[in-house]
Amino acid sequence: MQKNFKMIQNRTFTMIKPDAVANGHIGGILEKITAAGFKIIAMKYSQLSLRDAQAFYAVHSERPFFGELVEFMSSGPIVAAILEKDNAVEDFRALIGATNPEEAAEGTIRKIYATSIGENAVHGSDSDENAAIEGAFHFAGKEIF
Ligand code: UDP
Ligand code: MG
Repeated sequence: MQKNFKMIQNRTFTMIKPDAVANGHIGGILEKITAAGFKIIAMKYSQLSLRDAQAFYAVHSERPFFGELVEFMSSGPIVAAILEKDNAVEDFRALIGATNPEEAAEGTIRKIYATSIGENAVHGSDSDENAAIEGAFHFAGKEIF
């Protein structure tokens, strides 16, 4: 890491995935997010191309579920957002719950809204570094408030 470079620690990146959008859960999920104390500092309704999804999930390209994942993530519109809160990355992962909704804790977004391990309603960054990379993938500086 560069000297004098201060990693932003109070932001995370999320997507409401195509399953949750199609099932009418945008409002319910945004309500859970804001009620938990996250401030929305950027938000966009869009659709990933297959190429966009392959680039966004490049870290998973060798995993057996990659093809299914990128096809699903480009299958319909998503809501992308950057969220701000103290300890954002960890607190947001706690709010969304485990990747597999069957293992997600009661009250978590995935427990309530996900349908399967693949179609699991929301994305949440797993580190401050990835939050910055993923936010920059979807938003220009002037779209972040
Ligand atoms: N995924 C899947 N099958 C698996 C594991 C993951 O389809 O066995 C999908 C799922 O949509 C998940 C995404 O790939 O959210 C990224 O996987 P990761 O392990 O990073 O889970 P997450 O960080 O989203 O909880
Ligand atoms: Mg992940």
